[in-house]
Amino acid sequence: MAGIFVSIPYLHGVKDSEVLVVGGGLAGLTAALDLAGKGKQVTVVEKKEYPRHKVCGEYVSNEVRPYLDYLGVDLDSMRLPEINRFQLSTKNGKLVEVKLPLGGFGISRYTFDNLLYQTAKAKGVHFLFGTVTNIQCNANDFVVELASKAKLKAKVVLGAYGKRSKLDVAMGRRDLEQKSPWVGIKCHYKGYNHPENVVALHNFPGGYAGISKVENEIVNLCYLVQEEQFRKISNIERFNREVLGQNRFLKDFIARARPVFGKPMSIAQISFDVKSQVENHIVMCGDTAGMIHPLCGNGMAMAIHSAKIASAEVERFLNGVHKTRKSMELGYQKQWRKEFGKRLWMGRRLQALMMHTKWFNLGMDTVARSKLVLESLIKNTHGSPIIN
Ligand SMILES: Cc1cc2nc3c(=O)[nH]c(=O)nc-3n(C[C@H](O)[C@H](O)[C@H](O)COP(=O)(O)OP(=O)(O)OC[C@H]3O[C@@H](n4cnc5c(N)ncnc54)[C@H](O)[C@@H]3O)c2cc1C
Repeated sequence: MAGIFVSIPYLHGVKDSEVLVVGGGLAGLTAALDLAGKGKQVTVVEKKEYPRHKVCGEYVSNEVRPYLDYLGVDLDSMRLPEINRFQLSTKNGKLVEVKLPLGGFGISRYTFDNLLYQTAKAKGVHFLFGTVTNIQCNANDFVVELASKAKLKAKVVLGAYGKRSKLDVAMGRRDLEQKSPWVGIKCHYKGYNHPENVVALHNFPGGYAGISKVENEIVNLCYLVQEEQFRKISNIERFNREVLGQNRFLKDFIARARPVFGKPMSIAQISFDVKSQVENHIVMCGDTAGMIHPLCGNGMAMAIHSAKIASAEVERFLNGVHKTRKSMELGYQKQWRKEFGKRLWMGRRLQALMMHTKWFNLGMDTVARSKLVLESLIKNTHGSPIIN
């Protein structure tokens, strides 16, 4: 049965939007905040209520701090851990530590996404909670369909629905059969004295684990592992003990830290495929436009930065500076590639290396022996602070 075309005021008072953002993660919330600040009518459609936990390393690069200040996101009053050192250890227990040139801060996604949501709501962004199932582009506008069969209209649509949504399959962007070999696992802990200013990355057979502090003395452990390695055990507690525990730093952490969650969270099918930044006239932001390997610790900054670039181009289009949609799209793609092309290339090389266990272990050993190599890797996968 064809969906009923719901007149938008019917949906919780939301009107036809100038901009509709699909997905209220970091990229979507930031773009909504930015565009609302520029006086545009913005609606965000998000499938999950806030606050909610998310599998993530929760280290945010300072690249985006000035921009978040400009958007009125109050991080300063939260006394968040300021992180300026990076440790890397191999599974044989070698450890190297370097300074992070730009540094960053630790914040849980539970708190961060909710803070952006509350700030956006206060700025007049409309929110609808539901799952978008299809997006159609007509001559001058878009029709966005929700699982409830409600339909929304907007002049511009931003796609910010993350790394692996069924929406990509519905829009022919991804094949359902296309599998990815990575699994991500995360849990919050207390009772472990991890230094506040350090983000540590510890290698173990088949993957690596990040440890860093977030708010309220909580320590986040988040790891990425090849699915084939994980499936050999398929039980997180046993995997932690038997596989992560082969690295002496992780062994010590697992023995002493006390989990805060009832159960660790996991996600599978994490894909680092090359994607397009504009598709069917939808402007893609964050992981939907391209995801950097989490080893680089920079995906959140890239998601937020891409939202800034998109917001500027969308504003120019809505204000008539870009005379055509095509000109807006080309403007966005050009800026996106200029800002992220090199980092993603580097991230993909790292990912290719990680798929070959022997080379990965060799690479890790080399990096862990040389501060210079490590510093150069960090430099090449990170950006500079955003200037407004
Ligand atoms: C294991 C792991 C560790 C990581 N560690 C770090 C780190 O330490 N530092 C860092 O900077 N980056 C890290 N990243 C990367 C970072 O998590 C992502 O780059 C970032 O979350 C991207 O933000 P986003 O807004 O693009 O997507 P998301 O934050 O995933 O948001 C997408 C949103 O869209 C919603 N959505 C999806 N489909 C639909 C739909 N059909 N309808 C409506 N809503 C929908 C989802 O519910 C979600 O809220 C890590 C990633 C992984 C996998």
